[in-house]
Amino acid sequence: MSSDPTHTIPTMTVIGAGLAGTEAALAAARAGVRVRLHEMRPVKMTPAHRTADFAELVCSTSLGGEGIQQSKGLLQAEMRSVGAAIVGSADAARVPAGNALAVDRDEFSARVTALVRSHPLIEVVPGEVEAIPDGICVIATGPLTSDALASDLMRLTGSERLSFYDAAAPVIDIGSIDLDTAWRAGRYDQSADYINCPFTREEYLTFFGALETARSHTPHDWEKLEFFEGCMPIEEIARRGVDTPRFGPMSPKGLDDPKTGRWPYAVAQLRQEDREGRLWSLVGFQTGLKWGDQKTVVQLIPGLQNADIVRYGVMHRNTYLNAPEVLDSTLQLRADPHKLVAGVLAGTEGYLESSATGWLAGTNAARLALGLTPLTPPTESMLGGLTRYLASANPKGFQPMNVNWALVPELPTEINEKTGKPKKLGKREKRPVMFRRGLEAFMAWARDEAGLAVTVPPVPEAVASE
Ligand SMILES: Cc1cc2nc3c(=O)[nH]c(=O)nc-3n(C[C@H](O)[C@H](O)[C@H](O)COP(=O)(O)OP(=O)(O)OC[C@H]3O[C@@H](n4cnc5c(N)ncnc54)[C@H](O)[C@@H]3O)c2cc1C
Repeated sequence: MSSDPTHTIPTMTVIGAGLAGTEAALAAARAGVRVRLHEMRPVKMTPAHRTADFAELVCSTSLGGEGIQQSKGLLQAEMRSVGAAIVGSADAARVPAGNALAVDRDEFSARVTALVRSHPLIEVVPGEVEAIPDGICVIATGPLTSDALASDLMRLTGSERLSFYDAAAPVIDIGSIDLDTAWRAGRYDQSADYINCPFTREEYLTFFGALETARSHTPHDWEKLEFFEGCMPIEEIARRGVDTPRFGPMSPKGLDDPKTGRWPYAVAQLRQEDREGRLWSLVGFQTGLKWGDQKTVVQLIPGLQNADIVRYGVMHRNTYLNAPEVLDSTLQLRADPHKLVAGVLAGTEGYLESSATGWLAGTNAARLALGLTPLTPPTESMLGGLTRYLASANPKGFQPMNVNWALVPELPTEINEKTGKPKKLGKREKRPVMFRRGLEAFMAWARDEAGLAVTVPPVPEAVASE
């Protein structure tokens, strides 16, 4: 534990005053710990930020859908229950946006900046941090972490564990995969680790036609990437010719379709992403396609006609750690448990997820400084589901994750008394139950284990689907 020589109050450091860092600093200060918060803007700007304000929203102004049908809605409610600053500031700076929590960009950042600057236990230190300091520290420098600090982080974690851009493939909820069409097997019967979606020639040509005409996101100049052969976007592979995908990531070699006993014309494979086997990513399908077009293309894959895409593929600049290799679910670095990581750098996606992991990292760093054990929220809560995923996901090709319902346990199956068969609940029936279960578990944990003041948040009953 590091301590301020002139005070008995323990001291810790937070690097980065973005969505995660401000929440971490405020959570720790609220726990009674003195915080030194370093922010390099405006001394040194990132390519995406425009202001010197803290918690600047670099693109959209939405913190996600609200209400009991929404996984982000549950995370918002969890954060409201413990009085977290980012969601509180968003509520205060809210603008009408249907069922989403959207804000006035400038007012939101101004509110967060004022909360940080006026807190008596937070000292803001301007300028770039080039090396991770000694003592307890939350590193929350985001997707555009400066080069010097990224190098120092590589020293601590190993260079192969830090990535500089996303090349993510869509991730699909297993419940939406048609396993009468797709089947489990590895090439040449080596394992049953993959789900295989078989194409006939006609199906392949229809799929290829949609892929050829689908539209891509236009990256900022500074985001333009030079693709390595190993992570070429699927649309780029398709540009090389109609057969290139099926001689590449869509090769059917060694995959006997149990229905025909033969190799299909082409195959799309899915690989398990989480320990429970609920999240599956399309192998070799990293893509920068617009989300609407991406959905159309993915749903043309036999077996994925009803695919519920819980995380869309993206290709953009992003600095993040291979969380399952380096982080615990408390967000402590395994290599040095006095260093915690939050936000995009910890392998999350999105403003809300970044702020929530910031809250947990700040809370846990303060606990360490006060001589207490760091904690992980319960599995049923969205924050617990997310941080457990970060610590236990498949490290092979790990990509940042946003919250979704597949991160929390399924409801126990109920039996229909009349028929004796399991009751089948639709998403709309299940989600409110999972929402209430998660919120109750989180509040009980925050009150009883973390010893925090908890208030029951209002729960909007909005029903927009994700
Ligand atoms: C171009 C772009 C567009 C995006 N659009 C969206 C969107 O629309 N919606 C969404 O939910 N998410 C979006 N994201 C992801 C978004 O960045 C995160 O959701 C969120 O801002 C991440 O929070 P963070 O705290 O991890 O990082 P940030 O909010 O970026 O905060 C990191 C802070 O660390 C500072 N910093 C960096 N290096 C140092 C250093 N060495 N020393 C001191 N300070 C340092 C930075 O100046 C910054 O203030 C976008 C990201 C990018 C790059």
